[in-house]
Amino acid sequence: MKKKQFETEAIRTQLERTEFLEHTSPLYLTSSFVFEDAEDMRASFAEEKERNIYSRFTNPNTSEFVEKICKMEGAESGYAFATGMAAIFSTFAALLDSGDHIVSARSVFGSTHTLFTKYLPKWHIETSYFNINEPESIEQLITPKTKILFAESPTNPAVDIIDLEVLGNISKKHNLILIIDNCFATPYIQQPIKFGAHLVIHSATKLIDGQGRVLGGVTVGSADLIRDIYLFSRNTGPALSPFNAWTLSKSLETLAVRVDRHCENALKVAEFLEAHPKVNWVKYPFLKSHPQYEVAKKQMKLGGNIVAFEVEGGIASGRQFLNAIKMCSLSANLGDTRTIVTHPASTTHSSLEEKDRLVVNITDGLVRVSVGLEHADDIIQDLEQALNTQ
Ligand SMILES: *Cc1c(COP(=O)(O)O)cnc(C)c1O
Repeated sequence: MKKKQFETEAIRTQLERTEFLEHTSPLYLTSSFVFEDAEDMRASFAEEKERNIYSRFTNPNTSEFVEKICKMEGAESGYAFATGMAAIFSTFAALLDSGDHIVSARSVFGSTHTLFTKYLPKWHIETSYFNINEPESIEQLITPKTKILFAESPTNPAVDIIDLEVLGNISKKHNLILIIDNCFATPYIQQPIKFGAHLVIHSATKLIDGQGRVLGGVTVGSADLIRDIYLFSRNTGPALSPFNAWTLSKSLETLAVRVDRHCENALKVAEFLEAHPKVNWVKYPFLKSHPQYEVAKKQMKLGGNIVAFEVEGGIASGRQFLNAIKMCSLSANLGDTRTIVTHPASTTHSSLEEKDRLVVNITDGLVRVSVGLEHADDIIQDLEQALNTQ
């Protein structure tokens, strides 16, 4: 049968119907599953048959969610986690041995950075960082111990873009596992496996749920690597709950239409900000002024929902701008139906010194907007009245 389109797979991939002929997959809120007899139990544990045993290993709802993400990312296999960070930690912990080395982009999600700098070194796993504007520096960082090449694109919160094809070629040449955190793009906008990634990680908490309800994470990719990640996870317990998996699986049914509107609104917001006199600069992947516009166009279907811009006047102005916001939310999440405004220099990245923030393009006046699904005119009106108080 002809392979179905993305939107169709997101809706029509579902569990086999039960005797009740339900239209939507039911919620299997059960911690374990029963065996016919002792032989069935033995054969199940020996993995002679594929079946659910215990929901820390697999559950029909998590399997449905993982299967959808695999189809969307073009991946062979996957495992679902309680949070995005559980996915990231378990993936690294499963694949790395003491003494191994990671090469990572310098601008990564805050907790990922903490994992690399504070926790993995406890097991003698070290990380070297490259600036995303200098991909030519990556090869100099690779040592015989390097096992993983890691990056996010677009980055948080500066919305920089990394050329995934360049990363794919480097990982191939040096036989490294390329892992991409695809959270900001979603599989609808960008599929890193096409460019040579071996594993793709998502925080499903963000645009995949997209409605600010549940936490979740997922890692998908080549079957042999996922097998190691699965065995590690089944023994250490970071599994996604069946309820959250059911919710996220429903969320995926509307991912394409939601992300289309998120991106349409974000482009309007970016264009408005670019024309405003109190704004020093705006970064949005699909604005021609974005330094990596050509790369963004090559690897992304749309520009995403995150817009970064700088208010004139540094930290004080950034904070004043946030205080003047009336409708949009000040919140730590992103990718919600509600537009969220944050000021990284005084919050998520305040522990970094200014010079370290600048290396990852976080200036003191940088404001990050996660553009939601309210009417674009209302979002723009709120940002405009806040800018006019400057
Ligand atoms: C939020 C986020 C994570 C962590 O996900 P949680 O579900 O909050 O644990 C990882 N990477 C990126 C890029 C994120 O935005």
